[in-house]
Amino acid sequence: KTRIGILTSGGDAQGMNAAVRSIVRVAISRNCEPFLIYDGYNGLISGGDKIVEAKWTDVNGFLTLGGTAIGTARCKEFREYQGRQIAALNIIKHGISSLIVIGGDGSLTGADNLRGEWSSHVDDLLKSEKISQEEASKYNSLMIVGLVGSIDNDLATTDITIGASTSLSRICESLDALQSTASSHHRAFVVEVMGRNCGWLALSAAICTGADYVFIPEDPPVGTNWEDRMCQALKNSRDAGKRTSLVIVAEGAVDSNLKPISAEYLKDVLTEKLNYDTRVTILGHVQRGGSPVFYDRYLASVQGAEAVSAILSATNETPSLVIGILENKITAQPLKEAIRLTSLVSKEISNKNFTRALELRSSSFLN
Ligand code: ADP
Repeated sequence: KTRIGILTSGGDAQGMNAAVRSIVRVAISRNCEPFLIYDGYNGLISGGDKIVEAKWTDVNGFLTLGGTAIGTARCKEFREYQGRQIAALNIIKHGISSLIVIGGDGSLTGADNLRGEWSSHVDDLLKSEKISQEEASKYNSLMIVGLVGSIDNDLATTDITIGASTSLSRICESLDALQSTASSHHRAFVVEVMGRNCGWLALSAAICTGADYVFIPEDPPVGTNWEDRMCQALKNSRDAGKRTSLVIVAEGAVDSNLKPISAEYLKDVLTEKLNYDTRVTILGHVQRGGSPVFYDRYLASVQGAEAVSAILSATNETPSLVIGILENKITAQPLKEAIRLTSLVSKEISNKNFTRALELRSSSFLN
């Protein structure tokens, strides 16, 4: 029977549990043996009770649960060859031949590195007599499949990642709540949202909440007088009868000199130039919290099933794969290429929806 190791790694994202549940149950239905690896790569390196065979009922209740119940971690040792060698030993000792990693591009790169070095790990482990000749021949390859769990929606070659929809919903709920208090006091709010170097969450939130202005890393404001343009846009909205002002800033937003644009700075600008009663809200970890919305449950479930299928149809020549979704079709693409494209092109080029959203912004739709 094919033994499949499952782990979640890097930042947590809503829907990771739904993915784990789907993989466990599809694996069991397809006559495989799923193994849960706790706390990401830390668990793979610790071994022992961190690597446990999963029964059908072990994932009861996972579908609707936020975060990741099997734990996640940022693991320094896994970045080193020696750390990955210990992971390789634990994988072999547990009879695992395929690994499904649910995480961001860092986690998926790490898994692909392990696979790239696999034969050298096996050689080393055989030489140091940590594994037998029989084990070395039986586990002469490792298959890797990635699922992208990331609220940032920052991987090229997929329209949306697991967690991004829930995070956006959470941001919208919070912004709606802020709007009602802002409206009562004619206040302006500057709100920082997550997304690392990707502006998808900020731009989408701006469109979904009717924000007045938005700053994202992919499209820095041009010229030296962008502060004045922002103030004019907010003033125009107020003159037209709006009682509040809302400015959204992505955590990775920068100006044209690549200097970070902070929420505090924007607040000072609005206070000084417009004399608005301005408050800053950093939404923070609430954006990662709570139960996944339907789309993340759905996406995680169908992608989990696809990951198991991909493992069962793989040969030694199949590259490490990443499961995505493009134009509503679930895809399985070479992992390396997806990560290469992510580092080369920004999301706006790789994602049609992002481009449309940028068009909406530049057509002054927001204010
Ligand atoms: P994400 O997966 O969300 O992008 P990180 O970039 O923090 O998050 O990566 C999560 C973990 O994956 C790291 O703590 C490390 O253990 C592993 N990892 C990341 N990049 C590499 C790499 N180049 N080689 C090996 N392991 C890596």
